[in-house]
Amino acid sequence: MSLQSAGGKEERIEGEAVFVEMGGYVTRSKFLEGFVEMNDEGEIIVDSLGQTSRKGVFAAGDITQMPYKQVVISAGQGATAALSAYNYLQKKRGKHASNTDWRTVDIKVTG
Ligand SMILES: Cc1cc2nc3c(=O)[nH]c(=O)nc-3n(C[C@H](O)[C@H](O)[C@H](O)COP(=O)(O)OP(=O)(O)OC[C@H]3O[C@@H](n4cnc5c(N)ncnc54)[C@H](O)[C@@H]3O)c2cc1C
Repeated sequence: MSLQSAGGKEERIEGEAVFVEMGGYVTRSKFLEGFVEMNDEGEIIVDSLGQTSRKGVFAAGDITQMPYKQVVISAGQGATAALSAYNYLQKKRGKHASNTDWRTVDIKVTG
């Protein structure tokens, strides 16, 4: 079969099938510049609880620096970030955080 590269160069290769990979690796986080810490790729830096550099702001999924950008990973991170946000609000109100793992998770409220 005959293939044409992005540069317009035509190349003939032998093969029985073609698998097209679609890319989608551009982060749209520019509007958050200066608001939360990001890396050079524009990914938001989070810790294992989904906390960003700004207290009370949480992030999850492909927009973060976490590796393995897959649906199941993003969904799990979303659940973690949601629980962290809930615990953050509880702590701010002087109430108990949820005991999801038989212990209290230490969410940063100040400092
Ligand atoms: C071509 C391709 C194939 C893939 N195949 C697989 C696969 O087979 N299996 C797999 O597990 N994963 C696959 N992935 C990865 C998977 O799609 C992602 O890991 C997952 O969708 C990330 O979920 P997310 O919620 O973090 O981000 P997204 O699914 O990207 O959701 C982000 C949402 O935010 C919206 N948004 C963006 N900016 C703003 C804004 N300023 N205000 C409001 N909304 C905004 C977007 O429109 C989008 O709806 C694939 C990805 C691509 C691109």
